[in-house]
Amino acid sequence: MKDDNCIFCKIANGEIPSKTLYEDEKFRVILDLGPATKGHALILPKNHYANLYELPDEAASNVMLLAKKMVSQMTDRLSCDGFNLVQNNGEVAGQTVFHFHMHLIPRYKDDVQKIGWKPGKPSQEELEEIRGKICGK
Ligand code: 5GP
Ligand code: ZN
Repeated sequence: MKDDNCIFCKIANGEIPSKTLYEDEKFRVILDLGPATKGHALILPKNHYANLYELPDEAASNVMLLAKKMVSQMTDRLSCDGFNLVQNNGEVAGQTVFHFHMHLIPRYKDDVQKIGWKPGKPSQEELEEIRGKICGK
């Protein structure tokens, strides 16, 4: 399940070299070439799934377990002060490489990155409307 035109397929499967932090049968964890902070890493499945919608349930649960393990190891080794896990789906959400990946972003007290959003101020009615839309009632 690989896509010949996908750079992350090639990296995940070792056809293109990368700074690898971890590898097993199903995943490779690499350093991001355009890091938000020191140690910014990406979890890549070796199979090609374009995004979270395509990711099978088992792989999805394995990604989170691997994220937890990497975050613990990286926090110990890098002495970072926190972590963001980021996972973009679709161009509108900031996805630029269409092979599922999870960002592991170490945070440091003095780093200058901003990862977030401008909070809205919905009314109770607006919250109820969106709740109903999502839940179908
Ligand atoms: P996205 O915007 O799709 O969530 O994240 C794509 C990430 O992949 C970016 O943070 C970008 O820096 C990283 N990236 C793109 N191409 C390469 C590459 O060839 N090697 C590595 N290690 N990272 C890459
Ligand atoms: Zn791929």
